[in-house]
Amino acid sequence: MKNTGKTGSKAPNVIPRAAHNVSRAEISKAALKVLYRLHKSGYQAFLVGGGVRDAMLELHPKDFDIATNATPEEVRSLFSNCRLIGRRFRLAHVRFGREIIEVATFRAAANHEDDDSAHDTEGRIIRDNVYGTIDEDVWRRDFTCNALYYNIADFSIWDYTGGFDDVKRKRLVLIGDPAQRLREDPVRMLRAVRFAGKLGFSIDKSVVNAMRGHTELLANVPAARLFDEFLKLFQSGFAERTFELLREHKLFGELFPATEEELSQDERFLAFTQAALQNSDKRVAEGKSVTPMFLLGVFLWMPIKKLAEIRRSEEKMSESQSLSLAAYEIVSQQQRRISIPKRFTVPMREMLALQPRFAQVRGKRAMNLLQHRRFRAAYDFMLLQSEVGLGDPELGKFWTDVQTQSTDEQARSFQMPAAQGADKKRRPRRRRRRKPTQES
Ligand code: ATP
Ligand code: MG
Repeated sequence: MKNTGKTGSKAPNVIPRAAHNVSRAEISKAALKVLYRLHKSGYQAFLVGGGVRDAMLELHPKDFDIATNATPEEVRSLFSNCRLIGRRFRLAHVRFGREIIEVATFRAAANHEDDDSAHDTEGRIIRDNVYGTIDEDVWRRDFTCNALYYNIADFSIWDYTGGFDDVKRKRLVLIGDPAQRLREDPVRMLRAVRFAGKLGFSIDKSVVNAMRGHTELLANVPAARLFDEFLKLFQSGFAERTFELLREHKLFGELFPATEEELSQDERFLAFTQAALQNSDKRVAEGKSVTPMFLLGVFLWMPIKKLAEIRRSEEKMSESQSLSLAAYEIVSQQQRRISIPKRFTVPMREMLALQPRFAQVRGKRAMNLLQHRRFRAAYDFMLLQSEVGLGDPELGKFWTDVQTQSTDEQARSFQMPAAQGADKKRRPRRRRRRKPTQES
């Protein structure tokens, strides 16, 4: 790997322990153990990335990345609870119960745009698998705030890029030439927005300007990687703010083109989406679980509904059937951008196909909806719509109330014949049956 000389081997600004607020109390026991053992074995050992950044911000980091000059094999020989992962670049994972500490050997950046062997025709990095020193490692990182190295030897912070100041001033600045760094890896645009949403940082003008010409490069990013990024964007508890930023920077439409088209022309769909994101953030804040299938259902709901109407005008079918069919089509289309695992698309489609059933509030079939395994999610989905004027508020109230009733009361609410007393004269059953739908 040739050294470009452009960026490497600049001396770091070393910030002594007395001049910064990163305390070991903010670092997990497991991460400290790894750092200390590497150090005692004669290696350099630094905490780097989000762990240092979030500790400076007193955000109680949960994820700790360690950088060292020990090779992965040397790391493995120090820890019995260690596995090496990754083909392109080997990383060591040291496990402590449920916590995994990632240990990466310093590596040199593939930071020369005209080095053909390391970039594809769009400038994306295809090879960055060369071990290096810390003063090379720093230049391959994305933002200056993510390139602070906390040295376990003396608890100082090594800053090569001005990241220390940028954390203090709460701004996201890309290391190096912003346009080049975005071409190397377009996911950095999503990371900018994610950190801005989570940390309340501003995105530096130089980055915003570079983003403008590069949003469409996200189309070249593998769909599986975008799913991972989607989860980080929307499950971290700052989904609403992140969503606004994604739209502001014209990134949301790159991820969800059909959704963006509807959002730009339908105020109520926008309100519904915002309400769902708020709801999801609230759940995260309360320590409750969130499932990506719910938000995916929200995002895709309007495109699916519209297509279902078209399909219904073309062919006679029930509302549920047309929704199932349209959901299948829209999800397949969406998969080309973001590959969503089946374990999310299947329940999502079930949840959406149940929506028309909330309009039926009489009889056994209506009452049985309460037992459906997707009832809870489908109910939340329906209620959210009724709250923003996308659905009937009366229905929302009916299905909310009925859940707290006794079985007898429920039978009355659903006007079941059994509730009317002993005399159960059977009404002749109506012959015209609906075609079976695809749910459950
Ligand atoms: P968080 O863990 O809160 O999501 P983080 O900054 O630790 O934030 P990670 O994805 O855990 O993010 O990555 C760890 C570090 O690796 C980053 O801080 C950054 O220095 C570097 N890094 C990660 N992804 C990229 C990327 N796409 N381009 C350049 N550097 C990256
Ligand atoms: Mg991290």
